[in-house]
Amino acid sequence: MTNKLKTSKTDSVPEAENFDPVYISEQQFNRALVHIKDFRKGLVAFLKQPKRIYTVNFPVELDDGTVQSFQGHRVLHNRVFGPGKGGIRYHPDVTLEEVVSLAKLMTWKCALVNIPFGGAKGGVVCNTKQLSESELRRLTRRFTAEMADVFGPFTDIPAPDLYTSEQTMAWIFDTYDVLHSGANNRSVVTGKPVSMGGSLGRHEATGRGCVYAARRFLSKALLPNQQDLGGARVVIQGFGDVGAVAATDFCRQGAKVVAVSDSQGGVFREDGLDLDEVTAFKAEHGTVVGTPKTLTVTNEELLELDCEILMPAALGNQIHSGNAGRIKARLIVEGANNPTTPAADSILNSRGIYVLPDILANAGGVTVSYYEWVQNQANEQWDAEEIDAKLQSKMYRAVDAVFSRWQGFVVGDEVAGERDATAANHERPLDFRTVALIIAIERVAEATLMRGIWP
Ligand code: NAD
Repeated sequence: MTNKLKTSKTDSVPEAENFDPVYISEQQFNRALVHIKDFRKGLVAFLKQPKRIYTVNFPVELDDGTVQSFQGHRVLHNRVFGPGKGGIRYHPDVTLEEVVSLAKLMTWKCALVNIPFGGAKGGVVCNTKQLSESELRRLTRRFTAEMADVFGPFTDIPAPDLYTSEQTMAWIFDTYDVLHSGANNRSVVTGKPVSMGGSLGRHEATGRGCVYAARRFLSKALLPNQQDLGGARVVIQGFGDVGAVAATDFCRQGAKVVAVSDSQGGVFREDGLDLDEVTAFKAEHGTVVGTPKTLTVTNEELLELDCEILMPAALGNQIHSGNAGRIKARLIVEGANNPTTPAADSILNSRGIYVLPDILANAGGVTVSYYEWVQNQANEQWDAEEIDAKLQSKMYRAVDAVFSRWQGFVVGDEVAGERDATAANHERPLDFRTVALIIAIERVAEATLMRGIWP
């Protein structure tokens, strides 16, 4: 039996806040830019724009014999460090603007964790819940065929994202391989099933990487009485590939997952959820809502629950100016991409709530995707332990780099660039998103100039 949890009333999203993804990524970029010194004129415009955009409309025959037209996008933002890399999402709300902003995010993420890839992203406007398995297969094959000259092991490499899976990646690989026979094409896509050249540990990588990032961050002792995950109450929005793995790993590290959710709502248990029970219930009923011995919460209520760590692991713009003032977590670990708006960032920072941003926290996914790509080049399969050790050390190094740069701003070793003279005085230390972006943008800018502007 389930009951509703009594919580305070939640406000709706304020109408005044601009949720346009391009506007949001611009805001985030500009906040970092004021702290970057000696930025060569003209480079800013280049770094803000995507290198190329492909939009395709294509027909798919449905099971009942009718034909439906779908639209898909693939955006390559920047390839200074290497081929484009980024997931493909299937969702009814996919827009070109969202895909562009997510491709930019991938550029900064790869640069931050020193992965030799550029940023890319793709999406198809569709509702996977209304499509059968065979319809999804035909949609994926046709989209891949439309992108046959866009994707490539050394040009643009897709991966899973919202509502795409290992199976989707297997279909993409197969379609590409049929159209480009005679070569080792395995590395054209990552996140494949292990039996088809996927990497051990890839499925777990994003969620696990988030937990490594959180653990390393806590060890910096910024949260009084919480210097490791032991006893920390964790709330996770989204119980998919990222959220479910993170939940298990948080528990393994001694934390207590008190609430999780999916698109239909969330479940809460003060003593900690039995994750096996939640997983089994979701497998049987398609949702976590209704798991025995839990209270039901809405997704809005879930974000405001009392906890040490809040992990959004579903959609974008979940933490905004309408709810940021009521978030009770002390640390937010962004499993999802773009879950926090710039207005919310400012509110959270002013309230002393730390945010481990998407480009840092969820970079474990692209990290092990890179390991998969390397294994595919050599037709090798590395041990799970080896991959896990490499992932942990990558995440720790990235957190250390952001933390030490942040400390530079806090103690005043590092002063802001010229543009900051006109910017508002910072009463609080910079937030970690801005610091992570400063590092990433500087690296991409430096590499662009080192390569030289051609011709
Ligand atoms: P997924 O499709 O496996 O899971 C998504 C989860 O979110 C599901 O549990 C779904 O029910 C839930 N959800 C959907 N709509 C919701 C809503 N309105 N409110 C609450 N929950 C909702 O997707 P995923 O791969 O776990 O990706 C989740 C997020 O993590 C996305 O933002 C994605 O971009 C990001 N991400 C994923 C990876 C990866 O490797 N899969 C890597 C980096 C970032």
